[in-house]
Amino acid sequence: MTQPVDYLANETWTVGDVTITKVVESSGPFPIELLDPIVGAERVRSVKTGPSWQRPYYLSGNDEICTPVHSFLIQTPTKRIVVDTGVGDDRERDFEGFRMLKSGYLDRFGAVWDPESVDYVVSTHLHVDHCGWNTRLENARWVPTFPNARYLFIKAEYDAWKALAADPDASRLWDPTPYMMLDIERLFSESMLPIHEAGLVDWTEPDAVLTPEVRLIPTHGHTPGHVSVLVESGGQSTVMSGDLFHGACQVAHPEWHDQLDIDRPKGMLTRAGFLERFADTSTMVLFTHIGPSPAAYIKREGGSYRLEPAGA
Ligand SMILES: [Zn+2]
Repeated sequence: MTQPVDYLANETWTVGDVTITKVVESSGPFPIELLDPIVGAERVRSVKTGPSWQRPYYLSGNDEICTPVHSFLIQTPTKRIVVDTGVGDDRERDFEGFRMLKSGYLDRFGAVWDPESVDYVVSTHLHVDHCGWNTRLENARWVPTFPNARYLFIKAEYDAWKALAADPDASRLWDPTPYMMLDIERLFSESMLPIHEAGLVDWTEPDAVLTPEVRLIPTHGHTPGHVSVLVESGGQSTVMSGDLFHGACQVAHPEWHDQLDIDRPKGMLTRAGFLERFADTSTMVLFTHIGPSPAAYIKREGGSYRLEPAGA
């Protein structure tokens, strides 16, 4: 008998002198149709009908997938770095799955670190599920959750969302459902602007070296300033991909764009380059929205790619 999966449990990996802990905001099995507005219903149908390495780990017999939202907490010998900060509690959001969450995230985070001890906050990009906990609600005001941290914003990324938040016609860029999921105006005023106004932003290059072990990799396309985070220490390495992939099906089909990709041709090229770079290497990938565990190795297979769960 298999043990039930605790989708909210923290997971920890060691990379040389660095420790990485996953703190979950939300997770759980969902019908694969959840990906319809992301990669398209026709593609989702094709995943369900074909034999695939995705079963049963990434796609259950009930055609369910796991689409977690979580943070990675990187402890280097000298710094504490948070990568991605989820949706956040108490938010009025258009997308039901993100609305007025009471997630317990800060309790799970607090079991690992005191938020006041964080040195850097990095968002792979500034979508609604990656920068929400930049702030928290206190006396009806949005205040920095990590008051002693420097928030490392990529300028092109911040400027893009600032411009879109101010542009009432921004929705012309997207199909209605994906655009609704982003909730740009509220997100900018609640999770980006208060950080800027608090003077906590460090404008950061997309290939910046944060510590001797941690560096950013430009992986633009999904958004204008999207980055991945590479950790190398003691001959070991891991890379946090961000949202280059929303589902395991995009590993097999890097040409399948994401409806939320702001530059779809570039997103496809970036995905293909990422797979080419890390396939059949010892670098473990930590995904955002692929689970139950986000840790996997990329393997070449039959002119395409597959994932091998790191715990397998
Ligand atoms: Zn995301």
